[in-house]
Amino acid sequence: MRLLVLEDEKDVADALSRGLSQNGYAIDIAETGSQGLEAIEVNGYDLLILDLNLPDMDGLDICRLAREKHPALLILILTARGKQKDIVTGLDYGADDYLIKPFHLQELLARIRALFRRDLRAREPILKAQNISLDPVEKVVWKSDRRIQLTRKEFGILEYLLRHPNEVISQEELLEHVWGTMTNVFSNTIRVHIQSLREKLADNSETPRYIETVIGTGYRFISSEPHPNESESSKGSPHE
Ligand code: CA
Repeated sequence: MRLLVLEDEKDVADALSRGLSQNGYAIDIAETGSQGLEAIEVNGYDLLILDLNLPDMDGLDICRLAREKHPALLILILTARGKQKDIVTGLDYGADDYLIKPFHLQELLARIRALFRRDLRAREPILKAQNISLDPVEKVVWKSDRRIQLTRKEFGILEYLLRHPNEVISQEELLEHVWGTMTNVFSNTIRVHIQSLREKLADNSETPRYIETVIGTGYRFISSEPHPNESESSKGSPHE
């Protein structure tokens, strides 16, 4: 993770740089607003730690400009300005968090961890189909409220199928995405893993509830979610 600290007080900047580096983050320091904006343009930062009282600009304007141009950049305002008006403006201008000086390094680190966790969660939502849920971040699978233990390959297969619900996925595609293109695996490998995955999901290959074999083509995860274009009438068709 690469962080930019935009802070004009050298003591604070040095302390932040030390504390953050020791915790595994790559740190750059900018001392003025214009330096900071330039650095943001040139380097791909994951997080901006932003002071508001800067010699050349108001940090709130930097927050707004940085947010406009870089929607994915996380911004944490770290300032002595603790008035409600500043906090509200900062958050409205796109800051993800706001911490008031004086601060404890441990709290700043915890907030940074929380921001990165939330960010990852937003980019990797939980996959759901029928009563199966798969968390790509925590690498866990649930069937209703029961946790299911899968091997890494079984997890990979299920994740790939859940990312393409109701689509027929070929064995080659699964091999490529779960095993990688460089591996040489036996032709029945997928079949064996699908079989064990079915057993763990309590699925039956003859009357599949979850994973259907499409003979000669591949597999598909049956999602009960109706297709957005499907009308109400087609859902009721078995009774007609
Ligand atoms: Ca300052």
